[in-house]
Amino acid sequence: MRRSAARALGVHRVLEPVGVLPQAAQRLDADPAIGPDEVRVSVQRLNLDAASFRQLSEACRGDGEAVRAAVLEIVRARGKMQNPVTGSGGMLIGVVDAVGPESPLGLAVGQRVATLVSLTLTPLAITDDLSGWDGRSEQVPAAGTAILFARSIAAALPDDLPDAVSLAVLDVCGAPAATARVVARTGARSVTVLGAAGKSGCLSLAAARAAGATELTGLVRHEAEAAALRAAGLADRVVVADATDPLSVAAAVRNPADVTVVCVNVPGAEHGAILATADGGTVVFFSMATSFAAAALGAEGMAADVTMLVGNGYTPGHAALALDLYRATPGVRALLDPRVTGC
Ligand code: NAP
Repeated sequence: MRRSAARALGVHRVLEPVGVLPQAAQRLDADPAIGPDEVRVSVQRLNLDAASFRQLSEACRGDGEAVRAAVLEIVRARGKMQNPVTGSGGMLIGVVDAVGPESPLGLAVGQRVATLVSLTLTPLAITDDLSGWDGRSEQVPAAGTAILFARSIAAALPDDLPDAVSLAVLDVCGAPAATARVVARTGARSVTVLGAAGKSGCLSLAAARAAGATELTGLVRHEAEAAALRAAGLADRVVVADATDPLSVAAAVRNPADVTVVCVNVPGAEHGAILATADGGTVVFFSMATSFAAAALGAEGMAADVTMLVGNGYTPGHAALALDLYRATPGVRALLDPRVTGC
């Protein structure tokens, strides 16, 4: 690969092990001094992905101060926010404060942006000790610097939405985009979403409906979420089951769907998702807590003829699609807003 192409991917920022891309690196160089093709963002807020935040909270037994210390230590040691257990990260918002003369991203100093590349590959330096964060929320007020490469992507933050909402929607915007694409490509009529009352779950239901699916089932963990999802009107059928209990999932959904989208933030949903999917159907594993081995070997063991897709966080147009679904769908706002703004 040409040197400039490797630079565009951020390879020059990898400290160890040499030869891998930034996402797979153990440690990145987060020096705020930028190269000619890089952009520096002055960080305002991080969004830890739901699987990572849940794992950290559980490991720290809900002690917010310990979670804060753990995140700081990860960023200090790795030069990026990548949870070593889940392997996942999140994304951030901030203000562009330096643009190299050869950057192709089209960003301007002073622009408010959300980075649409994962924190797992974004060089990040924190300068405020995360002093404004109590360690109890996925969203983290933060000061520091983040670096974008020539092949990174960022979106201008919309002016009509609170930043916290934009951050939450953009963090999971790959899920509705992947759902819409699969439904459109396969002509699927029935879609089941596991973790349907969460952020990516409710956006995926709305995306499935907009893409033409007509039988939508939302699976949630308990009655309170079921009531909220029914009130939101996004699903034709709401069922309650533990997504990590495959037989309960199969019993709850009754009729396997053409497409199943896994939007839970806990490990162990692979086998239930496969059982919930019709022969010839598709499972989209958006959850970062998904095990490739459990999915592949589980499907083989059940002789299940299903296509299994890794929920790529990037699909062209994903950010605009998700923001538009949020704006246009009262049920999405009703489920998502309380998770983000607390009201
Ligand atoms: P979220 O808003 O926290 O939603 C997750 C939902 O799953 C919640 O409603 C949660 O219920 C529910 N849930 C948890 N355990 C369950 C169980 N055993 N059975 C049924 N439901 C259960 O999370 P999110 O932000 O939408 O993220 C969802 C997943 O996507 C996470 O794994 C996240 O890491 C991943 N993600 C992937 C990408 C990508 O690029 N592929 C990007 C961002 C995020 P409670 O609220 O009651 O716990």
